[in-house]
Amino acid sequence: MMSPRAACLLLAACACAAEAGAQTAPLYSWYSPSRGDNSASTDPRWAGAPGATRSPDYRFVRVEGLVLASARPGTVPLHTWYNPSRGDNFTTTDPRWVGAPGDEQEGYRFVRLEGHVYERPVAGTVPLQSMWDPEREDNHATSSPLSIGDIGATRPPNYRLYRTEGYLIPSPDEPLPDLLLRRLGYAATPVAGERPLLLIQTDFTDVSPLNGASYFEALFFGAGSPSVAGLFRSISGGRFGYRRAGRVTVSFPKTFAEATASVAAFDREVIQRAAAAGADIASFDADGNGTTTPEELAIVVLNPIPGGGSGCAGQTRGVTAAGPGFRYAGNVSFTHEDGEVNMYAHELFHQLEGGEHIYGPGAAINPRASFYAASYCPASSRGPTQLDPWFKIRMGWLRPRVYPILSSAWSAVLAPADPAPTSGREPIVLYDLQRGLDEFFILEYRTPRAPASRGFDAGVNSQGLAVWYVRKDGAHNLVAFNWPPPIRAAFDPSVRTHMLADFIIGSGGPGVGPFWTAADGEFALSWGDGTDSGLRVRVGPAAERSAVLPVQWRNARQPFLPRIDAIRPAAFAAGATPVLAADGVFPVSDADFAVLVEGGGREFRAALATLDVGRVTFTPPSLAAGTWAAVTAIGGAKGNAYPLKVSR
Ligand SMILES: [Zn+2]
Repeated sequence: MMSPRAACLLLAACACAAEAGAQTAPLYSWYSPSRGDNSASTDPRWAGAPGATRSPDYRFVRVEGLVLASARPGTVPLHTWYNPSRGDNFTTTDPRWVGAPGDEQEGYRFVRLEGHVYERPVAGTVPLQSMWDPEREDNHATSSPLSIGDIGATRPPNYRLYRTEGYLIPSPDEPLPDLLLRRLGYAATPVAGERPLLLIQTDFTDVSPLNGASYFEALFFGAGSPSVAGLFRSISGGRFGYRRAGRVTVSFPKTFAEATASVAAFDREVIQRAAAAGADIASFDADGNGTTTPEELAIVVLNPIPGGGSGCAGQTRGVTAAGPGFRYAGNVSFTHEDGEVNMYAHELFHQLEGGEHIYGPGAAINPRASFYAASYCPASSRGPTQLDPWFKIRMGWLRPRVYPILSSAWSAVLAPADPAPTSGREPIVLYDLQRGLDEFFILEYRTPRAPASRGFDAGVNSQGLAVWYVRKDGAHNLVAFNWPPPIRAAFDPSVRTHMLADFIIGSGGPGVGPFWTAADGEFALSWGDGTDSGLRVRVGPAAERSAVLPVQWRNARQPFLPRIDAIRPAAFAAGATPVLAADGVFPVSDADFAVLVEGGGREFRAALATLDVGRVTFTPPSLAAGTWAAVTAIGGAKGNAYPLKVSR
């Protein structure tokens, strides 16, 4: 059963965008290289799309956001001026530059009123900031996540940010800049396709295979329960998987100990004996270069022994083996027969990624959040578990939503980690403009029981918001760290290595679970070095099998200021008490939240009917004829006011 609240969320997401569109205008930005001029306008004649051009040589850049078509309480007008000698368009809310047609000052001619922008950072808005380049003599107003920042910050070639003009509603159609995603580590070309997978079971004089063909057929490829191949299709959003290339059993005329006395010799011999037993390795040499590689044929070796000394070990090692008519070179996964889906997926992912695991503090929660955790152990597995979102981003399997930690607050909904989330529900990356894109948090909804997950996250720690901390270098390698408190266990003796900065921050601290839920209230997140990120996050209520998880975040310096974009109906008769629906951006919890109706120096509290992040319904008290305003409030802070017309 879907909860009524969850059902409501689906509805609100659509209605909100449509309603906002009717009362807003996109702010299009263009750049002319010959004039060295950035220009921003809502003028329909300058409506553009990627690839568009205008005389003399303006190229379309982006939609900066949506501007309100008419003035409302809490908004300021946005005007454009043009200086022909500088070739500079100048768009500002500066009161000294309020103008009218025919006005001229400081060499600038008034062009037009573009619309109105919010004066304060109401929820879900982006700042429109101005910067000046004295070489180009160019004023540039932008909301681009690659450009905005602290006043005084510089941007190439010679720009300096000097003013925040106001706050825009983000355009739902504006894609994230490719450059931003690339700096984040998102693979432009996803790892895709379906790889042949060969299973090799080994037989020794002292130990023999425990399981037959049908057992491994079901475990790796079966449709009845989550299989290894199915897990890869799940984590890749259907982009990547494995298909059966066969299964052979190879016999060694030795004991297991004798056969594996030399690891290198054993690794080589396994492949050679598999070829002799009928595995046609050369036939998978797709590019015909004489060497079959793991990209062409993945190999998993299954030894009939309990896994390693700790019972947890599998290893993926570089192997070169040759025999009559074939040569194989690359990573081969050596495992044992008593593994389970996650362990085989872990070793196969080593073949794909080749790099380091997720380590991080605490051996408890990380392995129940990703099968690629170093401390992962089949013995403690609760069932198939997803790959963490950082590696999904690296593989090009997950295109996240990305937001800088700004003065403005936000709320959104998340879909479960599996299946591939629908657009607008993906995991969220939050970064700091000062720290840049090599360090960030990822917010992800994890749940073992949502029907949409089809069992591919059955082993996850708990239902709730998984918060990941990631720090990497410019080449997208995770940073190893041994930082001071609060992260004390920087050296993990269980894996005898320093940790890498890709780990869960649970409600008990770094690496300590459970995931965050509504019961945790608002919580603070710290960077890996222990400093406060300024980020304050709150999770909304979700039923046990909910298909969505509401989440909100804000900067500690700024309260959450709810935003009303539209109210329907916006006009009604005196004495009537209709149910009004407000679309906008609202908090995830009704704690401290109220809708107020204000007018003539009086203030009433409306009866709240429903609340979700995109829509609020409420009933005003009986009002006298006149103009009133609906205002949302949370704690002591009020959002924007939206006019209500009450007729006689
Ligand atoms: Zn490993």
